Amino acid sequence: MAAATTPLKALQALRGDAAGCRACPLWRGATQTVFGEGPLDARIMLVGEQPGDQEDRAGHPFVGPAGRVLDRALAAAQIDRSAVFTTNAVKHFKYRTRGKRRIHQRPGAEEIGACRQWLDKEIDLLRPEVIVALGATAAHSLLGRATAIGPNRGQLLHSPPFDCSVLVTVHPSSVLRERDSESRSAALDALAADLRRVA
Ligand code: SF4
Repeated sequence: MAAATTPLKALQALRGDAAGCRACPLWRGATQTVFGEGPLDARIMLVGEQPGDQEDRAGHPFVGPAGRVLDRALAAAQIDRSAVFTTNAVKHFKYRTRGKRRIHQRPGAEEIGACRQWLDKEIDLLRPEVIVALGATAAHSLLGRATAIGPNRGQLLHSPPFDCSVLVTVHPSSVLRERDSESRSAALDALAADLRRVA
């Protein structure tokens, strides 16, 4: 009889399997697979788009500029980041080069579909009470269809593929793209207000 595995061992095994994934071409240009992180008993799972430049190098989700925005929004919503599980819809960094810089590129439907297997396994292992889709790519993966953020923002939707509740909001990087500090402050407040719904 096979030895019983613990959830932690199961997560470590999944992370190891994903590290060797070649199910779409994105692994070729990336440094490493960036898998989800957080406590296994997390009641909230936050799903972003894909690792950015800093996440790709560090091997951890949400450690770059967008991660710092997320930290501030979570703090404002009174959610302890150490108590949530953070991951991405796509586990490898997609980019194009401009000189020495690596410029983010949004994953396509085929890449989102190919990578859903890992998100599926993370959700299956954690069974969180609620999942937050941070941006259109996460919403697409979690809801199984292209989903506009505007009309669905702040709403709890049912996910047919995962049979769970998904709160839809923007990706924290959108706060950074606002034109001035006043707009960035307002966008951060709006993200925190969305997150407060799951707090
Ligand atoms: S992006 Fe996802 S599906 Fe594509 S190679 Fe990486 S882990 Fe596999």
